[in-house]
Amino acid sequence: MKFIYTIITSIALLLASTFFFPSEGYAANGDVYQVGGMVLNVRSDASTEAPVVGKLQAGDQVVEFQEKYGWIQTYYDGKEAWVAKHHLRKIGQMKRVQANEENVTVKANSTNIRSGPGTSYPAIGSSSSGDTYRLQKTEGDWHQIVLANGEYGWVASWLTDTKGEPIPASNESAATVQAPEQQASSTSSDLTSLDGYNIMLDPGHGGRDSGAVGINGVQEKMVTLATAHEVAEHIRDAGANVIMTRTNDNYISLEERVEMSDDYFTHAFVSIHYNAFPDPSANGMNTFYYSQTTDQQLAENVHGSLASKVDLQDRGILREGFRVIRTNNAPSILLELGFITNANDLAIIQTDTFKQQVGEAITTGLQNYFQAK
Ligand SMILES: [Zn+2]
Repeated sequence: MKFIYTIITSIALLLASTFFFPSEGYAANGDVYQVGGMVLNVRSDASTEAPVVGKLQAGDQVVEFQEKYGWIQTYYDGKEAWVAKHHLRKIGQMKRVQANEENVTVKANSTNIRSGPGTSYPAIGSSSSGDTYRLQKTEGDWHQIVLANGEYGWVASWLTDTKGEPIPASNESAATVQAPEQQASSTSSDLTSLDGYNIMLDPGHGGRDSGAVGINGVQEKMVTLATAHEVAEHIRDAGANVIMTRTNDNYISLEERVEMSDDYFTHAFVSIHYNAFPDPSANGMNTFYYSQTTDQQLAENVHGSLASKVDLQDRGILREGFRVIRTNNAPSILLELGFITNANDLAIIQTDTFKQQVGEAITTGLQNYFQAK
């Protein structure tokens, strides 16, 4: 794996300022559409005159962030892009809250909201007893909360109560609209339906970042993309909304991948990679997680399923601070699905059977994960 760190682009900043705040800008959008039976142009603006920046295939899914002149704005390989709406079929809606959403209620009047996790940080506001905020994350004794204006602030945990309020999909005011064939497939399964869950698949590398290079010049970026496409099919069959950070051989920075995950209210983020090592005998697969509170259970569920279904040596679950999982607000894991520098692993990895097994294994792992929550 080779990660390239870049500065945050103006696009990433635009995304952060526009879409971080579900209570503000999200009310009128978040609908999920599927492309019908044709290849569809993706354009840089809401006009047939605007340059074509990509293509969508039949079955691809896009999320609407806003609508203009019969066009919807979505993201295509990490960039803002537009698609003509009349070629799309609405199949559902993104959940606006994370399944593990927690609220923080302030217990004392005149409680300081600070710019960082500690009393040494300046107060940026004040809060009264009973005020409730969405919990973003916790560091030590401090909660990061989302303020009414969409900004983040920090409050001391000993001055607050925290309460988890998981909101089941069926109770949401914005009910999930289902395509008939998806309803049929989800009711025929004994396992937990993934209806209403937003899964983000992240095919590692892409574009100028080829990732590792294996035997016969095989490029990691191409293998991760092919695997992710197959995995996406399996997870969609189980009812989930699946978004990929890239669907083509395009370069997407690590920051953009994490921004996309935050924008989509991702319930689980799965980054797909292949490993490489100078010693060609190195082989097998790993699952990596970073946060013991938000990521470890997902890692155990998915890795357990992979180990039982996929014919590669089990190298176990490891904790590592890879950027796409370390800075991700969603439960997130990174998979290294074998070594492309090992002849036996590569022969297995390049089969359709392997990709199907990985797709089934990740789907089952996600079902077990959400069932246990
Ligand atoms: Zn990699």
